[in-house]
Amino acid sequence: MDIHEYQAKELFTQAGIPVPPGEVARTPDEAESIARKLGGKVVVKAQVHTGGRGKAGGVKLADSPEEARAHASAILGMEIKGLEVARVLVTPAVDIESEAYVAVLVDRESQAPMFMVSPEGGVDIEQVAEETPDAIRKQRVDPRYGLLPHQAYQLAEFLYEDPKLQKQATAIVTQLFDAFSRNACSLAEINPLIVTPAGEMKAIDAKVSIDENALFRLPAVREYRDLDAEPESETQAREADLSYVKLDGNVGCCVNGAGLAMATMDLVKYYGGEPANFLDIGGSSNPDKVVAALRIITEDPSVKAILFNIFGGITRCDDVANGIVEATRRIDIETPIVIRLTGTNEEEALAILSEAGFSAYTSMDDVVEKAVQLAAQA
Ligand code: GDP
Ligand code: MN
Repeated sequence: MDIHEYQAKELFTQAGIPVPPGEVARTPDEAESIARKLGGKVVVKAQVHTGGRGKAGGVKLADSPEEARAHASAILGMEIKGLEVARVLVTPAVDIESEAYVAVLVDRESQAPMFMVSPEGGVDIEQVAEETPDAIRKQRVDPRYGLLPHQAYQLAEFLYEDPKLQKQATAIVTQLFDAFSRNACSLAEINPLIVTPAGEMKAIDAKVSIDENALFRLPAVREYRDLDAEPESETQAREADLSYVKLDGNVGCCVNGAGLAMATMDLVKYYGGEPANFLDIGGSSNPDKVVAALRIITEDPSVKAILFNIFGGITRCDDVANGIVEATRRIDIETPIVIRLTGTNEEEALAILSEAGFSAYTSMDDVVEKAVQLAAQA
């Protein structure tokens, strides 16, 4: 789950990381009054779940409350990478002497948290990685022991030459790791971590993603979920307890089990198609889940064919077949549906489906090929 910059900054503040104050506005009026309260120059920043807001015109410096108001009215409602801006953060502007990059993320390869730091912050880190890979230092963290003091110091030493700055940075990377592990983050990033002309270090941007599987034990973090900032289909899927990820293709996939869902997507591609989604209805064959799944898939206008691929184990194929028939009774579906069922109670399932007029298959290759063909014809 992605959270907004101002929320990430709250988590950073709790961990002791120095962050400029600020407040969130939903209207130009509110932005103006926050700017007046803060006094002096401010920055008005779009709050959307993506980076690169600066380049897109979503981060603007204002000399006066009136200017803050004008910037807020330009930024609110603006679209950045397809996301509409509904809130802006108004925060005091700081003078910047240097910008560094500091992040910790879950690294799949080393199966552990990994720090990535660079003295060349403020810009796209992918660009730094490509053009000047030596400007990035990585540090794997053993989750059993956390970030050790000498590791924190080595990261700080890589970023700064001045011992006073090294000392501040050592504290900040340690605090960042604390925020990362306390809040079950998959990413906690400060870009840029700045130094002011007076030698003070501050996190002026914050980007955090939370591991959704840990949200049940993090009630305060759970409150950060912004339903307006995520696609509606994902909200519906979560409420129906389905694992759903929207993709760019036109073959809607409805599968039981994450592994089979991946294999199905691979096969769709193998036959020349593109999956419109990943969707795992899980082990249950509850008709309500099938209805919810079909609703989500059919609401996606790019879906031109719907493919069910069910492997019956504990899931009984006849239950799923009843679920599909029930779902199509409850919702009006024009998109062609092809179904493959195999395993427990397969014969019963195929009888139910053929009676209801569905094309049912037992071969995975056949059904995927058919779905790709139907989608291409549409
Ligand atoms: P991003 O573009 O989404 O990563 O948003 P950032 O918060 O990182 O802002 C982009 C850039 O705007 C930063 O790298 C800074 O160079 C600049 N910026 C942001 N806040 C301030 C500020 O308070 N003072 C100054 N001078 N520049 C700022
Ligand atoms: Mn940034």
